[in-house]
Amino acid sequence: MNELFAKGRTILRQLAAHGYKGYFVGGCVRDYHMGRVINDVDITTDALPEDIERIFIHTIDIGKVHGTIIVLVEDIPFEVTTFRTESDYSDFRRPDVVTFTRDLDSDLERRDFTMNAMAMDGDFDIIDPYDGMMAINRKVITTVGESTERFGEDALRILRAARFSSQLEFKVDDDTKRAMLKHAENLKYVAVERSVAELVKLYRGANPSAAKVLMAETHLIKYLPFLDQVDEAAFLKSNVHSLECELALQIYQTPKLKETLHELKLSNAVKTEILSIVNLLKMVDSSSIRHLAYDFDDRVLNITKDTIVKNSFLQIGNRMTRLESAIAMKPKLPISDPSEINLDGRTLMRLFEAQGGRWIRTILSAVEREILAGQLDNDRDKIIEWVKAHVEFEAGNI
Ligand code: ATP
Ligand code: MG
Repeated sequence: MNELFAKGRTILRQLAAHGYKGYFVGGCVRDYHMGRVINDVDITTDALPEDIERIFIHTIDIGKVHGTIIVLVEDIPFEVTTFRTESDYSDFRRPDVVTFTRDLDSDLERRDFTMNAMAMDGDFDIIDPYDGMMAINRKVITTVGESTERFGEDALRILRAARFSSQLEFKVDDDTKRAMLKHAENLKYVAVERSVAELVKLYRGANPSAAKVLMAETHLIKYLPFLDQVDEAAFLKSNVHSLECELALQIYQTPKLKETLHELKLSNAVKTEILSIVNLLKMVDSSSIRHLAYDFDDRVLNITKDTIVKNSFLQIGNRMTRLESAIAMKPKLPISDPSEINLDGRTLMRLFEAQGGRWIRTILSAVEREILAGQLDNDRDKIIEWVKAHVEFEAGNI
């Protein structure tokens, strides 16, 4: 038995020993029946958060008002949530009131799609009042209840439908698809971080290209930051498996989109990676292989190479072979970044008996170029000798 289910079962047993119901619920039940990898197991129960904290020794309160407590079993966290119903979604995202209930069916009824609205007890018997198994067998994504109403309550569900269509390679049923189109506009009320988290999963899924067609058909891209500025034909044409690559490709094709990138509130590390890919695409034809190898890290070289391979419109000339050569050259470079140069500013200041200043950077860059070109060994004495021979220092100018 899967280790997560085995450990989760101890929680279900303890709940039962205290007179409460407890079930596995949501994505883990869906994935179990599809034979997919299970990454996390959620539990739903009629025990109130206070009861959960009383019954289990190791708990973390991560959202008691919404009914969720983490229970740790041998350091593995399980989200244990009290059965609840939700009502009145005035901001198109979070319910105004969360009401706890004793009834499993109403807890399942508030969930987004029928495939996500199944529960399973400790004996792996399934509770499936909304025909989630049938949806899984038919590979369809369909909302629990009336689609227009459900997307009207929470617009994030619209994007979740697109994300699941990529991850599971399921089709969205016609009614659900019509409702996606009808409420697409409400995506603008969804916090950008939430939308981006769904997009990241969508692109990592099995079939992002199919999900992109769905996003265009249902007009989702018109109401998402950055993507609302992208040319639809360019969006549909690219073949990528990460959000970063999509953004890089769009910026490469339409440079002014760079000004819109901040709207996605990505971390600096991710933004840097995207812009590095854009720069590499711009430089791959003109820069020397040695400089491509030195200026870009392995990850960016590899991602860009894969992107070029998958997108025929990018394969100008011998870009792929140039990138392969750069990747092969990388471990052979005499230095991999400026900090590895065996000379520092203080040594230079002593050598020329001068104050620090911009001149130090100028000399170090010249040294860096020589070492990289293989014309100077990265040896302290040899570098000093070279500097003495090549640099004339006069009253602060070189
Ligand atoms: P995964 O964890 O693989 O991304 P999941 O289905 O487990 O997929 P989660 O975001 O972890 O998705 O949510 C767990 C469960 O909570 C879902 O299966 C669904 O039953 C319910 N759920 C999550 N988000 C919503 C929502 N916006 N509206 C209604 N129900 C939701
Ligand atoms: Mg989950």
